[in-house]
Amino acid sequence: MARISTESVEDRSGILEEEDHMRGMERIGMEVISISRPFASVARVTGRIAPADPAPWMPPNQAVRIAVGEPEGQRPVVRVYTIRAFDPLRSEVEIDFVIHEDDSPAMRWLKAARPGTVLPMIGPRQHFIPLPSGDRRAAIFADETAIPAVYAILKAWPAGLKGSAWIETPDRGAFDELPRPDGVDLHLILRPAGVAAGTAQSLLQAATALPDPHNWTVWAAGERVEMRDLRNHLRKAGVARADLQVLGYWKKGMSSSDLDRARLAEYEALRARGLTLETLGDIDLPV
Ligand SMILES: Cc1cc2nc3c(=O)[nH]c(=O)nc-3n(C[C@H](O)[C@H](O)[C@H](O)COP(=O)(O)OP(=O)(O)OC[C@H]3O[C@@H](n4cnc5c(N)ncnc54)[C@H](O)[C@@H]3O)c2cc1C
Repeated sequence: MARISTESVEDRSGILEEEDHMRGMERIGMEVISISRPFASVARVTGRIAPADPAPWMPPNQAVRIAVGEPEGQRPVVRVYTIRAFDPLRSEVEIDFVIHEDDSPAMRWLKAARPGTVLPMIGPRQHFIPLPSGDRRAAIFADETAIPAVYAILKAWPAGLKGSAWIETPDRGAFDELPRPDGVDLHLILRPAGVAAGTAQSLLQAATALPDPHNWTVWAAGERVEMRDLRNHLRKAGVARADLQVLGYWKKGMSSSDLDRARLAEYEALRARGLTLETLGDIDLPV
């Protein structure tokens, strides 16, 4: 008998297939072309896709749900990653996987992947791009899992827009590779060897030191508990809800499948009240 995977999230009501959730995202396969290690902490997967329409893949900060496991008779085991770069001429995408020590579904997929491996995915889903108006500035707080999103956002940075970004990573190379558009100052927060990811609280500290918080439009992504504290601090400090987008990309000590189960339960409750996906306040989930 096939082994039951506890990492597969059941969608009994089929709600995840409905248009309110899918929003025109497509199911697509990415054929792996190469896997490189630009830095010790990152595996860069370059792959080929054949999208029905390349346009939605072009803007920065697109996320995809990749099927890193396909247990028999169950929904696939999925994880969320960012399209770091999309080349429409070659129809190639780049995804950077931060390497961590856990024997997790994404790390297992990565170890087994070779050129020619096909990775099923659903996407892309457009995530927030901080684009303040007037004299306001953009503030970005990101740990290493959000560097691919920061890379894409900075590469497409509009002329004249001002911003600052604080980046926590154990790898100086990942920071050095970021584009440096005019008007943006980048701050490296190098996490020392021996300090575990998600424990340094350095992004929270940087946000706490943000001068005149109400003058900024903020995008932050990283470890969930730190991000929730950062969001709570900035709300109290006067950043309006509309100017604050904070996401927990992962949670220390918890599988993303458990996060997804909590998301799904909340989403089902919202839909039962006639509400839509926009009202799902991810960072406020009780996990
Ligand atoms: C919108 C979005 C975009 C994302 N983009 C990227 C991206 O481009 N690149 C990227 O690397 N990640 C990205 N992530 C984060 C990624 O989805 C998580 O790190 C995910 O948990 C990895 O799955 P896993 O199967 O390896 O680990 P899981 O099975 O989810 O977790 C197993 C264990 O590993 C730990 N863990 C998970 N990730 C890390 C980590 N980075 N460092 C240390 N411990 C960890 C967990 O705390 C848990 O204890 C993104 C997340 C979101 C929501």
